Amino acid sequence: MKNNIVILPEDLVSKIAAGEVVERPASVVKELVENSIDAFASHISVEIKSGGIKFIKVVDDGEGMGSEDAALALQRHATSKIKSIDDLYNIHSLGFRGEALPSIASVSLMELTTKTKESLSGTFLKVEGGIIKEKKEIGTIQGTTVSVSELFYNTPARRKFLKTVLTETKHIIELLTNYALAYPEISFKFKTDGRELFNLKKTDSLAQRIEELWAKDFASKLVEIKKEQTEPSVFGFLGKPEICKSSRAQIHLFVNRRPVSSRALNHAIQSGYGENLPQGKFPIAFVFIQIDPEKIDVNVHPTKKEVKFSNENQIYNLLNLAVKKSLSTSLVMPVYEFPGEKAVTLDKETKSSLIKETPSTYLTDKKEKVLFQEDIIKEIYGGDKSSLVNLSTEGGSPANCGGKVDTPKETPEAEERKESLPSGIILFQAFDQYILIQKEDELLILDQHAAHERILYEATYKNLTEKKALSQKLLFPSVVELSPQEFFVYENFSDILNRIGFEIKPFGGKSVVIEAVPPTLKNQSERVFLKDLLADLDENLKSGKDKIKSTAQSFACKAAIKSGQRLSKEEMSSLYRQLFTLENPHTCPHGRPTIIKIPLKELDKKFKRS
Ligand code: ADP
Ligand code: MG
Repeated sequence: MKNNIVILPEDLVSKIAAGEVVERPASVVKELVENSIDAFASHISVEIKSGGIKFIKVVDDGEGMGSEDAALALQRHATSKIKSIDDLYNIHSLGFRGEALPSIASVSLMELTTKTKESLSGTFLKVEGGIIKEKKEIGTIQGTTVSVSELFYNTPARRKFLKTVLTETKHIIELLTNYALAYPEISFKFKTDGRELFNLKKTDSLAQRIEELWAKDFASKLVEIKKEQTEPSVFGFLGKPEICKSSRAQIHLFVNRRPVSSRALNHAIQSGYGENLPQGKFPIAFVFIQIDPEKIDVNVHPTKKEVKFSNENQIYNLLNLAVKKSLSTSLVMPVYEFPGEKAVTLDKETKSSLIKETPSTYLTDKKEKVLFQEDIIKEIYGGDKSSLVNLSTEGGSPANCGGKVDTPKETPEAEERKESLPSGIILFQAFDQYILIQKEDELLILDQHAAHERILYEATYKNLTEKKALSQKLLFPSVVELSPQEFFVYENFSDILNRIGFEIKPFGGKSVVIEAVPPTLKNQSERVFLKDLLADLDENLKSGKDKIKSTAQSFACKAAIKSGQRLSKEEMSSLYRQLFTLENPHTCPHGRPTIIKIPLKELDKKFKRS
């Protein structure tokens, strides 16, 4: 009988192993940076080209390796970090499997330069597809430099799986952000295609590192989780509910300073916020769990991104309680930012008096407990509400047949629009969420948010593909400090942002200045809107969605009127008219229906009239 089983050749085995560890350029950066941290580096500099696909270089000033170790490090299962099985259950370093360097080397062209403090000269190694091609003595300073070119050059199938340069760069930025958060005492530099994206100074303060990464006054939007003298313990910072996000991407979780992901622990944080977070929103959080290494297993995931706790319930409860306690003892009051105005913090009294005086102007919808900004402005500044509400889809789009919509005062324009609504149509708003329309022999029910979203989506899509949107100049241009991630997204979307009506310019460092906005945004804070939009675009970028469609979707969703907003007759009829000029008025960009029809006949049937 023919035998089918063969032992695979060594180079094939290492390529298979590499598949587990090296999924994409960010995995290479992760392993190299972990090695630098494990080597006690105090400066780490990372440089990439073309999303790391062409080139990655990590330079550290750590312990370095002697000449023999340097060659050994490239062999599989060669590590200086553990020696026995007992060590595996008491890991103090980030690496321990001795797999990373050989795995990376087997699927790239690698150069390694390293020198220890003691040795007089350093070692240079040149490796191609895992085979050492050159080894020589070299004059260099203490530390290690590893450069990796042409990743997956010899595994074309894997190379094909790589996403765009942008997406790969995003993954790397996200990864470096996490290590920079975990190790504030290390300075991190990052350059992509020759441009420096960050240069973080060493600090002993996590808050300072967060501010360097996010924005200067960001710490004021955070609540500290104070470390208690327990084991295990939790510490870090939680974003106040007002800066919540629509995805979990900003929950940064670390176990013994190792960035990890855990659905259970995310849930512990999320549920700790309780009703402070609107439904469907997620917190920003920087949470560090410190635990005896013997109580965890980090060897459960090929890239070590998950850990197993010997007692997960205990950690869940500890974290959940720490979040609840920190939020309840801190003043978690929303800060409202108004266009052209300085941020205003509403203290408890102002807020409750506002609520008492104008109960009908606040949302009653349990889903979104958000105060109407224009009502607050009116109360505080005596502003004129009529000039602030605007549902317009202006932007030169054909969908914009009604121009500006909301004018509670009866201007001649409004009169004109009223007249242009087909006669015999009766409109009525229910639950500040639906518009009921009696039209001929049908009752139509329109979801105001979904309908406006559809209108804005089509308008924005056209702005991106055909005709640029109009912009509205701001009276007071608004300077916004962006995080490196946000700035990166901004730079890559600046053209698109421009087409949908923003005028935004770089303003030194990671700051930008917003000079004009799409007219649709009149009643929203442009800063908050921009940051929210960038977060969404960031998510879209990562998931590799169609840039134009997903931008139009994100913009429409953010700019559309919300459910819970009271509308005037003019606003309702304008929504109705605009919706029916569209090619596809029946679903919102996410596929939810915008409109439901109930024929009179159906009603008659229900009432047994026919
Ligand atoms: P691991 O980190 O799991 O031990 P690696 O393949 O990543 O495995 O690295 C193998 C060994 O090479 C490490 O254990 C360490 O001794 C050495 N090494 C790798 N990178 C560096 C570095 N930047 N500085 C000093 N030593 C390093
Ligand atoms: Mg390693």
